[in-house]
Amino acid sequence: MYDINSIRADFPILAREVNGKPLTYLDNGASAQKPCAVIEAVTRGYESEYANVHRGLHYLSNLATDKYEAVRGKVARFLGVKDEQEIVFNSGTTEGINLVSYGWAAPRLQAGDEIVLSVMEHHANIIPWHFLRERQGVVLKWVEPEPDGSLPAEKVLEAVGPRTKLVAITHMSNVLGTVVDVATIAKACRAQGVATLVDGSQAAVHMPVNVDAIGADFYAITGHKLYGPSGSGAIHIRHERMAEMRPFMGGGDMIREVSRDAVSYNDPPMKFEAGTPGIVATIGMGAALDYMMDLGMENIAAHEARLRDYARSRLHGLNWLTVQGDAPDKGAIFSFTLDGAGHAHDISTVLDKRGVAVRAGHHCAQPLMEHLGVTATCRASFGLYNTEGEVDTLVSALELCHDLFA
Ligand code: PLP
Repeated sequence: MYDINSIRADFPILAREVNGKPLTYLDNGASAQKPCAVIEAVTRGYESEYANVHRGLHYLSNLATDKYEAVRGKVARFLGVKDEQEIVFNSGTTEGINLVSYGWAAPRLQAGDEIVLSVMEHHANIIPWHFLRERQGVVLKWVEPEPDGSLPAEKVLEAVGPRTKLVAITHMSNVLGTVVDVATIAKACRAQGVATLVDGSQAAVHMPVNVDAIGADFYAITGHKLYGPSGSGAIHIRHERMAEMRPFMGGGDMIREVSRDAVSYNDPPMKFEAGTPGIVATIGMGAALDYMMDLGMENIAAHEARLRDYARSRLHGLNWLTVQGDAPDKGAIFSFTLDGAGHAHDISTVLDKRGVAVRAGHHCAQPLMEHLGVTATCRASFGLYNTEGEVDTLVSALELCHDLFA
């Protein structure tokens, strides 16, 4: 049974007030709150188990290394990956995608080669490809979602041509909540020798993900949205692609031997993990993944599907609110504007006075904003601890905005 009260009790911050009102935290798409299990793992990591990893022969270094390395297996289990050596740790999706851009794409793509992207991508899955456009003449091909916000796999595949080397696509839009059928895209791309990178930053938080079954070459996740510490993350990279990659950052830990004239590199994944990593942040991410796996991703997804359906019916019932995107397959993420009144920032300020935390702005998705014909939206994004009562609180606060601004 999904015991929402005991789940909420696991997240101490949910008990606090904001502006004299109980906190209604609906900014999970930006970053999620942390359960006690994560807070305790981080505290323990610094209080009694801290040392640098990989390099020492002393007790604490070995302990920290064991705890840190154990997270590789947890990420692999969480993502349905058989071989944990295909998991590279990093500070989050931004670093993961930059690794692929610098390490895999930059040395391989020539002027005129194409990368297919959707206009729904987060800037983290746009800017690293713009670098290649600016620096080496790579062409970016953009795919637009349908009017309801859905993005059919066939539409993405239609953009794949003989010069396409990579399709870089989100699994779930951070603005519209649209879920993309990345397995169909990855399968068809593989058949044509085209690589696929999936931005799993949002999807992995809200639904069971089986990366081996999806079959993409690269699958990126970010720890702080997964109820883990900020500065933690990972990317799954298939062995064949790892073998094709050159390292992105150089430094300690990623080498085997260094002399004045030569260097040889460690085997992957360490080849792609230069320098002292986010040791405790990564251990905290492991605790977060354990927490989610204990709850069960199917149970989390079922809970959030109920929230999505309820929020959808309540928000669509407000005839002065425009909700952007209503794809049949979408997560509990809603972006909206108030018709003819109130900038998104003004709305979020009024909501904040009622203790309701939402995000306002372009959500690091300016091409999508341009496509939608808006400069900014408010976004309410739900997580595993939210309730239908909080949907009602959001709607009451929006009604207040309507009274103020209309
Ligand atoms: N991709 C998507 C879809 C996101 O929502 C985000 C974060 O907002 C990112 C990438 C970037 O993640 P991070 O800032 O943790 O690297």
